Amino acid sequence: MTASEIVHLTARQLRSLFEEGRLSAEEIVSAYLERIRAYDRHVGAFLLVDEEGALQQARTLDERKARGEPLGPLAAVPVAIKDVLCTQGMRTTCASRILHNFVPPYDATVIRKLREADAVLIGKTNMDEFAMGSSTENSGFQITRNPWDLDRAPGGSSGGSAAAVAACFSPMALGSDTGGSIRQPAALCGVVGLKPTYGRVSRYGLVAFASSLDQVGPFAWDVPDTALLLQVIAGHDPMDSTSVEIEVPDYLATLDQPVGGLRIGVVREWLADGVDEQVAKAVEQAIDVYRALGAKIQDITLPHSKYGIPAYYIVAPAEASSNLARYDGVHYGYRAADYDDMVDMYCRTRAEGFGAEVKRRVMLGTYALSAGYYEAYYLKALKVRRVIREDFDRAFEQVDIVLGPTSPTPAFRLGERIDDPISMYLSDVYTVTANLAGIAGISIPCGFTADGLPVGLQLLAPPFEEERLLRAARMYERETNWHTRRPDLERVVAQFEAKQSASAG
Ligand code: GLN
Repeated sequence: MTASEIVHLTARQLRSLFEEGRLSAEEIVSAYLERIRAYDRHVGAFLLVDEEGALQQARTLDERKARGEPLGPLAAVPVAIKDVLCTQGMRTTCASRILHNFVPPYDATVIRKLREADAVLIGKTNMDEFAMGSSTENSGFQITRNPWDLDRAPGGSSGGSAAAVAACFSPMALGSDTGGSIRQPAALCGVVGLKPTYGRVSRYGLVAFASSLDQVGPFAWDVPDTALLLQVIAGHDPMDSTSVEIEVPDYLATLDQPVGGLRIGVVREWLADGVDEQVAKAVEQAIDVYRALGAKIQDITLPHSKYGIPAYYIVAPAEASSNLARYDGVHYGYRAADYDDMVDMYCRTRAEGFGAEVKRRVMLGTYALSAGYYEAYYLKALKVRRVIREDFDRAFEQVDIVLGPTSPTPAFRLGERIDDPISMYLSDVYTVTANLAGIAGISIPCGFTADGLPVGLQLLAPPFEEERLLRAARMYERETNWHTRRPDLERVVAQFEAKQSASAG
């Protein structure tokens, strides 16, 4: 099998070819590393590629297999890791200059679980600094380009992870979703991304942005691989008191059973004003697919979802301002070189170490929490959060799944929104409500625009109903082939370079 064939396989295929002895772990990992070497200088998905570590892991797996040892469910499967998850001995920066040299002394629980499942950790992916953003342009180190069109953003904040999967640099990746950061880049890169219910997956070792909203979740090309990765990372963790002690079902066992009598609620207001026409059309066609499968489609309304963005931009920055207080130049990370006294050292360290968006959030959050404004902003936002949750509770009394677009637009151009925070914030208008309500959500590919840009369909399910969510997503996926399309990177790069040299000359 050629390297190019290998990198187009699913994780399940890689795992079984390895199991059957038809591919060695070293062949698999080498094929991905070769692909990364050839194309990541154009895409910029990775902040760190652990070539040596990944090859070492692969060789160990090959030896263990030769000895007939039992192997884990992700044996020989490369997984790319958003650089917000602590990896022992491997630099973890959150794409922030303030953590440029931070090497965690421990693994996040999800990383430990990946290692126990015999996954190969191939590298750390680029992101918006501290996961604040929707385009990955807020990274303190580099931009990431969308593998379908290198002039466009991959979405964010987990843009590196989504782009890595779309570019076939890794069959799977982990991201984090605080307001849409898994689902939105998944939609813009044409892959599957799942945000688990708050409490489903441990946050231990996930560098905190907004602790009451953050969840770790999987990216993959299709729903079964997504289910497989969720299976590995889900479950209660004594190290995270907000992870919930509730059984994790066998997601793959039931995945291909359609949900009988599936009732789908279409959020009408999400398909009205403000949504791109081609996005709306692809979502309407997806609804037709479900209808043809016998699902009962009805319109629903989430009357308070329009307050999602304002409420989110109080709650998330408030929590961030507190979580980011620890970056003071004392314990770890960057410290300013010149300063007069301790306070000056704090100020210079944070002024030099944080980027503009992070500073904006810290100021917003500090303001909203300050005496005199706390009731007017923070407490009010918490009340809005409650009524948004109640909207979903009411909807789920009538329907099994809530459906809408993931993002109001397909991938936008790099640079287009970066100077206008409000337009950037609005990228998450359909995703933040699921985080505020703490429910589960998935984005799956549902078509392409005339320009060949992927469109994402968002499905939402009640808390801890990931099994239902995955089965409903799989019903659609089995009827369509959007998830099998891969960008032709060779052509995309050639076009990009031709355009660049034309504009230079
Ligand atoms: N784009 C949103 C923000 O900037 C969501 C980010 C996320 O989910 N981490 O906060």
